[in-house]
Amino acid sequence: MQFKDIVGQTELKERLVRAVESGRVSHAQLFTGSAGTGALALAVAYFQYLCCTNRHDGDSCGHCPNCQQIAALAHPDLHLVFPVNKQGKKSGEAMLSDEFLPLFRELFAEKQGYCSPQEWFDRLDLGKTLKGMISAREADEMIRKLSFKSFEASYKAVLIWLPEAMNEEAANKILKILEEPWEKTLFLLVTEQPTRLLPTILSRTQEVAVPRIEPAILEREAAARGITDPVQARNMARLADGSLIELGHLVAGESDGQRKENFDLFCQLMRLSYNDKHLELIGWAEEVAQLAREQQRALLSDAARLLRESFMLHAGLPEISYLWGEELAFCSKFAPFVGVENIEPLIAEIESARAQIYQNGNPTIVFTHFALAVSKMIKHL
Ligand SMILES: [Zn+2]
Repeated sequence: MQFKDIVGQTELKERLVRAVESGRVSHAQLFTGSAGTGALALAVAYFQYLCCTNRHDGDSCGHCPNCQQIAALAHPDLHLVFPVNKQGKKSGEAMLSDEFLPLFRELFAEKQGYCSPQEWFDRLDLGKTLKGMISAREADEMIRKLSFKSFEASYKAVLIWLPEAMNEEAANKILKILEEPWEKTLFLLVTEQPTRLLPTILSRTQEVAVPRIEPAILEREAAARGITDPVQARNMARLADGSLIELGHLVAGESDGQRKENFDLFCQLMRLSYNDKHLELIGWAEEVAQLAREQQRALLSDAARLLRESFMLHAGLPEISYLWGEELAFCSKFAPFVGVENIEPLIAEIESARAQIYQNGNPTIVFTHFALAVSKMIKHL
């Protein structure tokens, strides 16, 4: 993985290169950003740059043995830790990332470093309720590995993808490891949710904030992927909201079916809400509870977007609305129900439901509460 394989993020790449060239390599770094920004790919590209024996022009060479092994996630001095789990495991059985490494390499190669947690959990075939976890045993394994001398590269690295999946015991052990000085050893943590990490872990790592990819860059990327209509490319870039993964779904048309389904569910929720149909709202929640967790999260994101857009329309700012087609038609009619009085509490309900779904809350309970709370707030203003 070279820096040139990473879409956008020019400033950040330059900053990482400068840090290496000036010898200011911090021993513990926390890359923060959603999967679609390329945070994981960047962490790998950074370590590759550091270990490349022939780096030039602000990038690794891509050809030396270190480059090739790191790009394939098969370098003996690059240790990977990520959440794992499997269906039908015995109680008390703790699994290690290494057992799943071939599967992880496969996904990483296929997605060119841009994979979402959900794509990984799907690859592990975890189903709807099981979650990936990083166990305390993983921390013991890390100490064992770090006590060996480095093989080839001058640096060793432990890359922890999604440290928020650690339980408290694991997090405390990792914290102890971060506190110890390990010669020429880097800890690269890549998180989507820094607020779920122990404050002590945050304070012992240097943050590398990975921003959303700029719309203009995603627009070019959409064009490069065959979207010839500039208006369509621009709309896709806006909808992708800084995420290359989301843009990929939009370009592939994968999101179209799901978007339509989410839009219909949103319209239903709002119609039932302003008509105070409580029984039907509970039916709506039960239907949504059956969807895959990824789609539930996408539905909540779409709902937040459509509510904000409706609010813009109500506020008389149609020129900054990104809607078109049937979304525009519905939201124009629905706009009188969303105003300064309720927009913030509505968004807060969505954020709360999204956090609970992320933390594996029971979806029937989460969405029933959500639908009833929303219905109380939706009225003609
Ligand atoms: Zn190289």
